[in-house]
Amino acid sequence: MAVDLGGTNFRVCSIRLNGDSTFNLTFSKVAIPKELMVAETAQELFAFLAEEVKNFLKKHHGNQFEAYTRRRLTMSAPGGFRDEHIFRMGFTFSFPVQQIGINKGTLIRWTKGFDIPDAVGRDVCALLQSEMNKLHLPVKVAALVNDTVGTLVARSYTSPGKSGAVLGAIFGTGTNGAYVEKLSKIKKPLSGDYDNSTGEMVMNTEWGSFDNQLNVLPSTSWDKALDEASVNPGIQMYEKRVSGMFLGEILRLVLIDMFKNPKISFFKDEDSNSNDWRSTTNVGENSSLFKQWGLDTSIMSVAAADNTPELGTLRQELESALHVYAPAQDDAQAFKAIAGAIGRRAARLAAVAIGAIVLQTGKLADPGLKDEPVDIGVDGSLVEHYPYFRDMIHEALAAVDGIGEEGAKRIRIGIAKDGSGVGAALIALVAAGMEERHEQANAGLLGSVRTDAKSSALVNDDGEKAAAESD
Ligand code: ADP
Ligand code: MG
Repeated sequence: MAVDLGGTNFRVCSIRLNGDSTFNLTFSKVAIPKELMVAETAQELFAFLAEEVKNFLKKHHGNQFEAYTRRRLTMSAPGGFRDEHIFRMGFTFSFPVQQIGINKGTLIRWTKGFDIPDAVGRDVCALLQSEMNKLHLPVKVAALVNDTVGTLVARSYTSPGKSGAVLGAIFGTGTNGAYVEKLSKIKKPLSGDYDNSTGEMVMNTEWGSFDNQLNVLPSTSWDKALDEASVNPGIQMYEKRVSGMFLGEILRLVLIDMFKNPKISFFKDEDSNSNDWRSTTNVGENSSLFKQWGLDTSIMSVAAADNTPELGTLRQELESALHVYAPAQDDAQAFKAIAGAIGRRAARLAAVAIGAIVLQTGKLADPGLKDEPVDIGVDGSLVEHYPYFRDMIHEALAAVDGIGEEGAKRIRIGIAKDGSGVGAALIALVAAGMEERHEQANAGLLGSVRTDAKSSALVNDDGEKAAAESD
């Protein structure tokens, strides 16, 4: 199983990996309620997540779930019923964490509009495990995965080439990337146990926080206004110019400035003669245009996709999504031009991060890989749905020193659909294998005692305590 806490949605899925680069996936998706993003306690958010896992199990794995529940309620053993963990779960948690074990990591800071101070510094796996234990779910959080790492792994599974994917990148609510680095190049001190047999390690860059000092990032008055009104001013400055959560808000701020400017005729008409629909434009009083985060980036995709002279589809969307009635053709043209500029700037900035990683890996310059594509897996609604986003990235890559036209042609950017979920399931599987090997290594009486102790410790309702005991 895998669960994926993005910034906007929570996905639960179960995956059968067929072992031949294909898989079968069942999933459910819910929007994370806004009030839970800023809940008083971490427990409120994680209880909601556990409840969703329960609903999913009931709906899609009803037989196994009911059989398990029946056993739990009816079985009488001397030591009581011992919870079984029928499902191993990969937990994709797309916020910065200090990962200290395969299924253990403490939250460094919230991003993407979340703000639950109570959760900072705590082990997010234990928080989820604890809430799932309260509901007696037969599930063990086996691996903690960043969505970028999941995407990288999923891409390597589904499109095996000579050398696998070099980068997994997200352009969804937020943006981030993970790549494979040589251990010898890692300057940061590494603590704890890690496997160094391959000489490589996956690095989660957290590039959303690139250039928070604004030394090189472009900055407009609207970028500044967005940042100042956000829950984390001064942080994630690159992300705030690139990803889905923010592009719509930048656009909204520009539009409001234009709308309020008496010198600019935008979303308003002198009379019906100045409107090609022979009406006058009206903006509904309760239009979400007047509310922070009120303009979803998806309308920018509608604008980019509508290339008809009348812009009929976009104008319909302006009416239904933003309650702008009878927008004139020139209003829609202005909307499209501004949205296009914001989208193009985002794609070009995206190319900066991608290009930097490609150069860092040295794959383009390696004569042994001359005819090999440099493979990149991407996931997230923005890159998936915004028309020509990847084309604009490619155009910008060609302009980067050290890449150029020829280099850009070799960079293959492919959508890893549901990548973060599939990757998390793959990693959970690897983690389960590691557990098994660990248990085999401890074979004999002592080994089985330890294994038993481990599973009974997890019966405990207090997940954090249970996790500590099972260590
Ligand atoms: P998550 O980040 O939670 O994993 P997604 O990858 O679906 O979720 O990204 C959600 C973000 O993508 C939201 O900020 C939303 O505004 C944006 N988005 C959703 N649909 C589209 C679309 N059609 N075009 C552009 N952006 C979109
Ligand atoms: Mg995501």
